[in-house]
Amino acid sequence: MESFAILVIIFSVIVIFILVGIARSVRKKEKYTKNIKSRISEITPKSDPTRYKGKSKILEWLKSEIMENNANVLRLSKGYQIKIPRGHKYDLFSAIKITQESKKTIKIVGILTKVIPSYLDIRNSKILYGSTKDSFSVFDLDRDFKLYSTAPDMWREIFTNSEIINLLQNNSLHIQHYYLRGEYMEALISHNQVGLGTTILSLTILIHEELKKLFGILDSTEIEKLVCYNCQDPFDPLEEVCDKCGSSRPRCIVCLLDLYPSDIERDVVTTPCCGVYAHKDHIITWLKQDPRCPNCHKNISHWLGQLQIS
Ligand SMILES: [Zn+2]
Ligand SMILES: [Zn+2]
Ligand SMILES: [Zn+2]
Repeated sequence: MESFAILVIIFSVIVIFILVGIARSVRKKEKYTKNIKSRISEITPKSDPTRYKGKSKILEWLKSEIMENNANVLRLSKGYQIKIPRGHKYDLFSAIKITQESKKTIKIVGILTKVIPSYLDIRNSKILYGSTKDSFSVFDLDRDFKLYSTAPDMWREIFTNSEIINLLQNNSLHIQHYYLRGEYMEALISHNQVGLGTTILSLTILIHEELKKLFGILDSTEIEKLVCYNCQDPFDPLEEVCDKCGSSRPRCIVCLLDLYPSDIERDVVTTPCCGVYAHKDHIITWLKQDPRCPNCHKNISHWLGQLQIS
């Protein structure tokens, strides 16, 4: 009888060990999936229908900071479009659009009255979206940001201005993305800090001041314009759809950069599921991490193989 009791004890100890083991491995797997998911959500474009519709206090603050006078302000469903008159403190811009992209993310788009001679793309290094041949490094910014341009030497010269460097470093936690090209500026900021929006505008003004020192006055002459991929009509960079044919804006669904006519050389593809545009190298990087389309979430893993050989 005693040996039977001992057997029961040994047996239950074994069962407990097995149960604990299973529970642990399940939890580990959950954690792993969660990691991957959060990484992917960082690079997921804000295109899902559940996105935040309201306007935050910070957005309202930013609007009144840019323009007190409501006559120049156009109300949008997710934010505001503001016309900037001459003589205004931000008159480097002719128009500024601010929108609430998610609960804690604001997008700022500015149309410049002057031209930026080469593009600059600054990405927070926490956000992965694949590599391009245009990447370059600036020692003081390497820890926080990844930089891209076709004219790295020019930008390294601009980044000798310590005010610009400090501004970027001090806000590195909140600047997700900053982009300049031609007459266009776009920034994606996560805010829990009043003032970051105007900091982005000041950053652009500082950069323009430095460019002026290098090149003299930069005026709009022959710069490449965004055109609709479908009807070839000039595309208003403040709009999301073509005002002539209704096609969606020519932009890469992965990195969210606009696709200019000259970018077609850089291998632009359209997804087989929903027909959105993407840089080929970016959608390959994406599908290696997640077999689902970044736009419509359909499984398109079969397409990856095709892309890699074509
Ligand atoms: Zn069109
Ligand atoms: Zn891309
Ligand atoms: Zn799709």
